[in-house]
Amino acid sequence: MDLNVQMLWRFMVEVTTLTVVLYYTFMFLRGTRGWPVVIGFTLLLAVTVLTRVFKLEVLYFVLQYFMTVLAIAVLVIFQPELRRMLAELGNLPLFNTAHEQRENIEVIVKTAERLTEARIGALIAIEQSIQLQDAVESGIVVNCEATPEMLETIFFPNNAIHDGGVIIKGDKITYAACIFPLTQRQDLNKSLGTRHRAAIGLSDETDAVVVALSEETGSISYAYKGQFVRGLSIEELRAFLTSVLVTGNKSQGLLERLRTWKQGREAAPPSAAPAPQTMLNK
Ligand code: ATP
Ligand code: MG
Repeated sequence: MDLNVQMLWRFMVEVTTLTVVLYYTFMFLRGTRGWPVVIGFTLLLAVTVLTRVFKLEVLYFVLQYFMTVLAIAVLVIFQPELRRMLAELGNLPLFNTAHEQRENIEVIVKTAERLTEARIGALIAIEQSIQLQDAVESGIVVNCEATPEMLETIFFPNNAIHDGGVIIKGDKITYAACIFPLTQRQDLNKSLGTRHRAAIGLSDETDAVVVALSEETGSISYAYKGQFVRGLSIEELRAFLTSVLVTGNKSQGLLERLRTWKQGREAAPPSAAPAPQTMLNK
């Protein structure tokens, strides 16, 4: 009897741990370029199990080795995402206050309005829980209050620090002229230049919210946790920033997600964030 209770207890701990790990892995990869790989991997796993059940020894042998090789390939291919995953685990929750975030939203929205109208390019990263200094190269220390006027001045063509991206931390512009890592993705639209690839690259490796304003087309885009959306209106940009920075979609835990899901089923409220318009996968 005692042994049975002990076994049941162990079984419960194992199942709960596995469920939580799988849940967070799925939530982390959902909507990123890793998602199709998860689906492929699950299908392959199902086929492997079937070959075992039907005792197809040769197929089972080959698939087993193939899965091992695939697991190593996944580690190599998704190295930026895995880095972000580990960095998120090891970082403290966000310190920025809701007030600072609301101010930042208005600063970025106003900057986007003015710069897109004047067709001036810009790249703005809002630091979250992962420090960005490790991910970016070079950069000039600025340390001034984040205002639309300051951002406009920084990105004004031909000034000494207009090239590269800025980092906003709390209510300050901490760095300008930073070189962000370019994304390694090969599946992006060819029309995307280095500014947009740098936005996606930083969002692959960190949890920063990155806004890119195109000099060529005047379009507004965001990259967040590897997801890239182009052609936002000012209102859509504001709704997205609010949903991530203030409403806090980023930090929802298991219970909160379940609560939101349950509320959603009961009341079906409209989502605050705009539906992705251009997932530039082709
Ligand atoms: P746009 O639509 O504004 O033309 P784009 O995506 O086509 O943007 P480019 O035309 O290549 O990109 O833009 C070049 C500018 O992007 C550079 O002048 C520089 O300011 C910025 N940029 C390029 N690479 C990086 C990088 N790795 N990190 C930060 N900024 C970068
Ligand atoms: Mg260009």
